[in-house]
Amino acid sequence: MNILVTGGTGFIGSHTVVELINNGHNAILMDNLINSSEIVLKRIEKITGIMPTFYKVDMLDKEKLGEIFDKEHIDCVIHFAGLKAVGESVKEPYKYYNNNLCGSLNLIEAMNRHGVKNIIFSSSATVYGKNVIVPITEECPKGECTNPYGWTKSMLEQIFCDIQKADEKWNVVLLRYFNPIGAHPSGLIGEDPNGIPNNLMPFITQVAIGKLKELGIFGNDYDTPDGTGVRDYIHVVDLAKAHVKALKKIEDNSGLSIYNLGTGNGYSVLDVVKSFEKVNGIKIPYSFKPRRAGDIASCYASANKAYSELGWKAEFDIDDMVRDSWNFQKKNPNGYGDQ
Ligand code: NAD
Ligand code: UDP
Repeated sequence: MNILVTGGTGFIGSHTVVELINNGHNAILMDNLINSSEIVLKRIEKITGIMPTFYKVDMLDKEKLGEIFDKEHIDCVIHFAGLKAVGESVKEPYKYYNNNLCGSLNLIEAMNRHGVKNIIFSSSATVYGKNVIVPITEECPKGECTNPYGWTKSMLEQIFCDIQKADEKWNVVLLRYFNPIGAHPSGLIGEDPNGIPNNLMPFITQVAIGKLKELGIFGNDYDTPDGTGVRDYIHVVDLAKAHVKALKKIEDNSGLSIYNLGTGNGYSVLDVVKSFEKVNGIKIPYSFKPRRAGDIASCYASANKAYSELGWKAEFDIDDMVRDSWNFQKKNPNGYGDQ
């Protein structure tokens, strides 16, 4: 298939492009590079032998977005583009609603105009809200999000559902990611956050490389086995492969489909630290801090639906994830900024 990958140079987008190419698809990338680097394109070429077509376009620019659809024959869109920093979204909600909602509405308009009615959308477990019962199944109702970023995901899910309901020619797959970490085993592509990382794994790798002094663990008094927060970490390559499998729903004209993408296993912050130390032989100094606002004790998926309907399940375990995250950090101490 010819697949437009918005946000294609980003963390999850780039890994998905590799898997798409490996499976014989033609990936056309679009990104405004606000949170990624063009160097990723060369890295994708190094891994796959193919330099994908790339459009440096902002999805807020309707005209340029439309031009991509004029030029390319697109069968399906995988929509990763968006801003994703939870804390920043609390401080600058307009920026998040404008970029993620208006940008996606522009995309939908361009798709409609060009008769492209197939989309796979990057959603998040955050749409389930705070009052979850684990493991979370797709039947669990959506809940109150704790920040504007989360609301953009929840609202966009609603928008895609309504559009599909109004026009049955649309095929929509909503993928709710749990906690993607890891990197391509080659160490050529991985996560390269701007500034001090908010997420656990990049924080740990930056402590390991000596950029940050110690990890602050947000809370050790949760109702979990060791008191620290439990999450469902998933290797980004497994996540990427799920997108290739999800294309089956597009090919089958399945209408609306929703899947959790996680391993189904919960690991605490201390489990992740211990695994990192054991696998990579590096000590991670840490101290306990107060709970972080908006965090919940435990969040992990039931991954059964994706297995039974898509034949997908995660293959990598937590040790693989911490090994590959460190491998990318080690080979790219300053992220893509080194090149
Ligand atoms: P990322 O920031 O690495 O990738 C997103 C890409 O979108 C970036 O390359 C950025 O430059 C691009 N972008 C942002 N606004 C744009 C615009 N207006 N026009 C064009 N490009 C634009 O993030 P990621 O971790 O790869 O996440 C991909 C998607 O998955 C996002 O939608 C994110 O919200 C979602 N998601 C991520 C996680 C996670 O933990 N990483 C979890 C759940 C959902
Ligand atoms: N966490 C932590 N210290 C950090 C970053 C995260 O203790 O510097 C914890 C956080 O409280 C949560 C887990 O690690 O329990 C995963 O957090 P992350 O921000 O990576 O993902 P999310 O909050 O979206 O699940």
